[in-house]
Amino acid sequence: MSRFKCFNFAIAGVVLAGAATLVVGDARERYMQWDVHAKDRPQPPVVDPGHAGTQEKTGKPPSDAIVLFDGTETDELNTNWTINDAGELVISRGGCVTDKSFGDIQLHVEWMVPENQAKASGQRRGNSGIFIMGKYEIQILDNKDNQTYPDGMAGSIYGQFPPLVNAGRGIGQWQSYDIIFRRPHFNEDGSVKKPARVTILHNGVLVQDNQELMGPTAHKRRTSYKAHPDKLPIKFQNHGQIVHYRNMWVRELEPRDD
Ligand code: MG
Repeated sequence: MSRFKCFNFAIAGVVLAGAATLVVGDARERYMQWDVHAKDRPQPPVVDPGHAGTQEKTGKPPSDAIVLFDGTETDELNTNWTINDAGELVISRGGCVTDKSFGDIQLHVEWMVPENQAKASGQRRGNSGIFIMGKYEIQILDNKDNQTYPDGMAGSIYGQFPPLVNAGRGIGQWQSYDIIFRRPHFNEDGSVKKPARVTILHNGVLVQDNQELMGPTAHKRRTSYKAHPDKLPIKFQNHGQIVHYRNMWVRELEPRDD
């Protein structure tokens, strides 16, 4: 390698290291820039996901996945939600929580807001959510033609970060989330050693890019971390509205040090 090339690589390394530092700073700056649930926060651009992320109803999970719901069994879930004739898990009475606890995960979930919810608007049109570790909500909502506050729309980290784009498919259509979540790490004194991070594909489109979380998601208030166990169950939200689920599976990921 020439000295010139070496120099360029060195510069690139410094720039990248600087960028990595900036990303961390930017997350808090972006978080504090807007009031929680600010309605005048810019709406994410709309992106038609095309057929990206589409899965056949009978889509087969990876061989090392823990299947949470395959259309028949809910053995891995503590729930009384209804399984309809089409093999979909429909929000009904009570909650829905995984039997096992998880930390670092890859999670695949498909969801659909049925057409009989079309008259509802804002936060009332198919509001559910995936509370990873029971604490960190990835919002589920139909936002195809239904505006709400950006940090509360589909693909948002609720009350913290809007999705990068609005890749929603709309009412009556199946949508997918592919989520990679890295749990937070805490020091012995309970302070944060490493915040949680999440990457989300909504209908195959990137909507959260290794985004740092500010703490557990919260409604109408700022948040901060409190130390908690390394693994906790995943909770699917019953917000009193009808949402259907199918093809739910999770893979446990090896921890990483960086
Ligand atoms: Mg919700």
